Amino acid sequence: MDTINLRAYAKINLGLDVIGRLDNGYHQVRMIMQSINLYDKVNLYRNNTGKIDIRTNLFYLPTGKDNLVYKAAALLMDEFGIDDGISIDLYKYIPVAAGMAGGSTDAAAVLSGINRMFGLGLTTEELMERGAHIGADVPYCIMGGTALAEGIGEKLTRLPDCPDFYVVIGKPGISVSTRHVYQQLRIDENTVHPDIDGMIDAIKSADADGIAKRLGNVLESVTQKEHPVISDIKKSMLDNGAAGALMSGSGPTVFGLFDDEVKAGKCEEILRKNKLIRNSYVVGMINGGRK
Ligand code: ATP
Repeated sequence: MDTINLRAYAKINLGLDVIGRLDNGYHQVRMIMQSINLYDKVNLYRNNTGKIDIRTNLFYLPTGKDNLVYKAAALLMDEFGIDDGISIDLYKYIPVAAGMAGGSTDAAAVLSGINRMFGLGLTTEELMERGAHIGADVPYCIMGGTALAEGIGEKLTRLPDCPDFYVVIGKPGISVSTRHVYQQLRIDENTVHPDIDGMIDAIKSADADGIAKRLGNVLESVTQKEHPVISDIKKSMLDNGAAGALMSGSGPTVFGLFDDEVKAGKCEEILRKNKLIRNSYVVGMINGGRK
């Protein structure tokens, strides 16, 4: 197999809680992860240059060792002593530094692609173990669908498929550093924690209202304080028919869940008209088996 074309799906967090901090500074999280039908295209071409080359449509992304797709390719090629070369074309559609695991999902796609291309025979679990060395979200991106992520994000429990919604994604014209948001986070007795267990129950019983009602992200107040546009987008989504709306990851992307495609489309239009967002999409969810 000399060419493989892959889709690398973005995620949103239906819930994100921080429950503590480890000695090494990492935060212990409980997150409900959900893949959505917004994806980067990752095309792999095998060659005999002995190198990893990356081309991408975004001029500001690194194309060398700092790109997560490079790290993913190098990890497997070094381990398995592959001395062929590989060329990677990366078409980014997932907003960058937006709380949607864009880089992690590209890395996950490359791990799966190289495994197939070179017939390495690694199982999904074995790929996930390797993915954790690249980033805490990479194992989840290999798994996809609806899942509970614990530890630093790498301990995963598959959940039943979340009922489908029309998801409006709104990304304002700002970028947020995940590291900065976590550094600003203070957890104390006044912290309002999202109801992650209640969310899991709502997903298990396919209770769409219960899911929309329990959306919660402990990082939202941190990012929102610095970027009030996040609360404006949320308000606009809720005023325009969203069953629930939330910031994803460390932000600044906000998503709204809709039970009706027309309502979702109208809401997206209003967000654009009011210049609250730079990028927006209306997409469905992608669940495990369908990926
Ligand atoms: P998360 O939701 O996991 O916090 P994110 O969506 O906030 O991730 P990314 O889009 O993954 O953030 O990018 C964060 C940084 O990683 C960017 O500043 C970018 O320079 C770097 N990066 C390296 N490789 C990639 C890639 N393939 N795609 C996007 N960003 C990449």
